[in-house]
Amino acid sequence: MHVFETPAACRAYALAARAAGRRIALVPTMGNLHEGHRSLIRIARARADEVVVSVFVNPIQFGPNEDYAAYPRTWADDLAACEEEGATAVFHPTVEAMYPEGKPTTYVTETAISPFLCGASRPGHFNGVCTVVTKLFMAALPDVAVFGEKDFQQLAIVRRMVRDLDIPVEIVAAPISREADGLARSSRNRFLPEGMRPQALSLRHALLAAKAAWDGGERDAQALEKILRDTVAREAPDGVIDYARVSDAETLVPLTGAIVRPALAALAVKVGPPRLIDNILLGR
Ligand code: AMP
Repeated sequence: MHVFETPAACRAYALAARAAGRRIALVPTMGNLHEGHRSLIRIARARADEVVVSVFVNPIQFGPNEDYAAYPRTWADDLAACEEEGATAVFHPTVEAMYPEGKPTTYVTETAISPFLCGASRPGHFNGVCTVVTKLFMAALPDVAVFGEKDFQQLAIVRRMVRDLDIPVEIVAAPISREADGLARSSRNRFLPEGMRPQALSLRHALLAAKAAWDGGERDAQALEKILRDTVAREAPDGVIDYARVSDAETLVPLTGAIVRPALAALAVKVGPPRLIDNILLGR
């Protein structure tokens, strides 16, 4: 398994692989790899000859009061996980290698999907994501890139970005990987205080309750959102809801009234220090 520390080194490898007719898959991550990331690597392996996993905690997607400094960095374990899952290369640049001139002055900005949900409470976050994903594409030159549905809005924005900019990369979605109790796997789960895990599960329970109501015929967006909020309020008395939304599954525009198209129920809740997110599709 190769390890590259600069975009140029990664690109040289990618160009050689392409010249040899080999398909390249990219799995962008911020490291601290868990079973969710591993499932993405396995999907990538099934679709390409070369699998590049990028491990980079991207400073420009964190707001000033967010957890950039505290974000878990577990490089030795991440390297082992990539090796175990059969990645052929790991791209692990330093911040200086990615942003040699400091904060970039050119950003990729998606404006249709970004304002909602996480974008509303994390201004600039998706500009940072789109910019780094574009840079990772330019380094790894992938035919296909795998993103998790855990970050459903990110996935929708990246899909839109590649369409808007004619980027020749196929975007593949990976289902949400969960712990046995249903908690969506996340690098931030480690910051959950021990006793608060039952409250963290309120996100999953709320989404399942909304899905059960949907399956029972409920189509009113406000009624479904009330189920989300009520379930979290009941099960997570210390939780602080950032959003509890039912949105159009493609545009992520918040829905009101009767729902006639596939929808996404999505939650962001601060449970102790970590801000947790989860979602479920209604009517896929
Ligand atoms: P991150 O390292 O958190 O930036 O995530 C890197 C990629 O892994 C993103 O495409 C995430 O959506 C995906 N991912 C993270 N957690 C999960 C999970 N529990 N299930 C599926 N994909 C995930």
